[in-house]
Amino acid sequence: MRLSLPYTKTKIVCTIGPASRKEQILKELVRSGMSIARLNLTHGSHEEHKENVKRIREVSSNMGRVVAILADLPGPKIRIGKLKKGQVTLKKGSVVYLTTEDVLGTEVTIPVEYKGLPECISKDSLIYINDGFIQLQVQDVAKDQIKCKVLIGGELLSYKGLNVPEVEIPVKVISDKDLKLIDFALEEGIDAIGISFVEGAKDIIEVKEYIKSRGKSAFVIAKIERGVAVDNIDEILEVTDGVMVARGDLGVEEPIEKMPEIQKRIIHKANIFSRPVITATQMLESMTYNVRPTRAEVTDVANAILDGTDAIMLSEETAIGKYPVESVEMMSKIAVNVESKRSSLRHSSNLLECWRSEVGQKKIAIEDVIPIEVFEALNALPVKFVLTPTRSGSTPRRISRFKPKCWVLSFSGDEKVRNSLAFSYGVYPFLTEDGGNHEKIINLVKSLNLVNKGDEVILTEGSRKTGGTNSLKILIID
Ligand code: PEP
Repeated sequence: MRLSLPYTKTKIVCTIGPASRKEQILKELVRSGMSIARLNLTHGSHEEHKENVKRIREVSSNMGRVVAILADLPGPKIRIGKLKKGQVTLKKGSVVYLTTEDVLGTEVTIPVEYKGLPECISKDSLIYINDGFIQLQVQDVAKDQIKCKVLIGGELLSYKGLNVPEVEIPVKVISDKDLKLIDFALEEGIDAIGISFVEGAKDIIEVKEYIKSRGKSAFVIAKIERGVAVDNIDEILEVTDGVMVARGDLGVEEPIEKMPEIQKRIIHKANIFSRPVITATQMLESMTYNVRPTRAEVTDVANAILDGTDAIMLSEETAIGKYPVESVEMMSKIAVNVESKRSSLRHSSNLLECWRSEVGQKKIAIEDVIPIEVFEALNALPVKFVLTPTRSGSTPRRISRFKPKCWVLSFSGDEKVRNSLAFSYGVYPFLTEDGGNHEKIINLVKSLNLVNKGDEVILTEGSRKTGGTNSLKILIID
């Protein structure tokens, strides 16, 4: 058997929805490069998500590909309610009333699910709906309704999100509803949980402890979509397994012009902490309706990869778009092209130097020494693969952060650890009975025709006593 590795080292996250949940489309998404299937628990019924999990598992296992499943929690997002015929048009300059009553929305009255909104809002506050495409200004506030003037109008669909960036809304980050959804996701055996609107480390710790109390495990992704989370990024990275630059809400919660700078900072920090990072939202937005993206979108995807992102995400493009498969194919093409140029674009290839200068003052962790040596060896030798047996996933993640030229093949005895590595750039994760048996690893890569006689490979090794990776071998395949 010959194993062909994916085209891209950058991982592609596809949000699964009506446009992509059919088995045939899921197959095409995997074939085109999907590594992570995202279930947005804000939308869809439990039955639909259950069926999605079943189909994704079946399709990926039949195709011999690792696809991790990420369940994304709604969190404390405020949403408008249901609209007449599912959509209304708001005209610039008109007056609309946001009401906490349970009514069907019209051009004049729009229901809001969060009953406490009138209490925390005041005259002149700006309200953003649908990621800021619609803007309202508050004129008057009564007990159960808010009178607003439409500053920017447009088409509005039912259940779109609503943001009031200047106002602190007193709601819990992890609601009881989120906890119930975590229970559901864990029962379905999902691999990762996305926490929306995190504020600080406490939110991630709360979810991790909850998962543990259920006797389960899941990779936890902190969605950075509020200014406070950007401010607290260090403490968040300290405790989370991965992060998402959730640009949809972030672009309304923070001034939109700050987006490029925030994205670059979060990706860089995540690389330094060796936490996989997903760049999300509007990456190929126009492909929701068009078969080709805009030049700006292509450049955005490429730039996120050069920034050092591990994964790039499709939302509406694959959930409800007309061209889900073409969107993944396009992402793959852009990634393949830019990944091969990384070293010639010097500004994006100096992570090791940055890491050294940032960590230099502190003590370098023992676990970081071998990954640095691996990276140095990769620059000096024509190595075909880095082979990393791993218990927790830490060593391949610490190597992946430097965006190595060759694939890192990881070998783990735990399915959840294997699937968590689907999030890391350039890591192709294997499930092996004994993650640390070197002879078996070499035999496996030989049997898959991944290596030929004379190829150089790097093999990292751990001590069974301490559990950590503490040495590196350079082997020539015989
Ligand atoms: C975002 O805001 O960019 C995001 C990914 O979150 P959601 O899709 O839940 O709005």
